[in-house]
Amino acid sequence: MAGLVYVPHKEKHKEPKGYGSLCQKSVSTEHAQELLARAVPHPDRPATRALFAACGEAVFVARPTRFEAGEWHGYPELGSRIDPAVLDALETAGHLDARRRRRVERQRELPARCGCP
Ligand SMILES: [Zn+2]
Repeated sequence: MAGLVYVPHKEKHKEPKGYGSLCQKSVSTEHAQELLARAVPHPDRPATRALFAACGEAVFVARPTRFEAGEWHGYPELGSRIDPAVLDALETAGHLDARRRRRVERQRELPARCGCP
């Protein structure tokens, strides 16, 4: 959402299999900021402090680091673990097309990269 600031969560960016290995390999801080700017809330639980964005077949969850300051961090999540209502919202917002959404729903591994060339 506009106005929020992405601040990477350093201890979660560990190699080789840290939580944020996908972020580290293919998502720059600048791209993460851009994803945060267009991230959508949970359509049924908008008060939940989580936002969602997708690029290609990579789905990201953002959570506040310091909510009052508007500081957020993010991490990739398996599409199969994302609430279908959120995938609906991502499709409506144009983050996913119908084909990608079906692939994301069946995801068992995090994609190696986001959808950026
Ligand atoms: Zn991307």
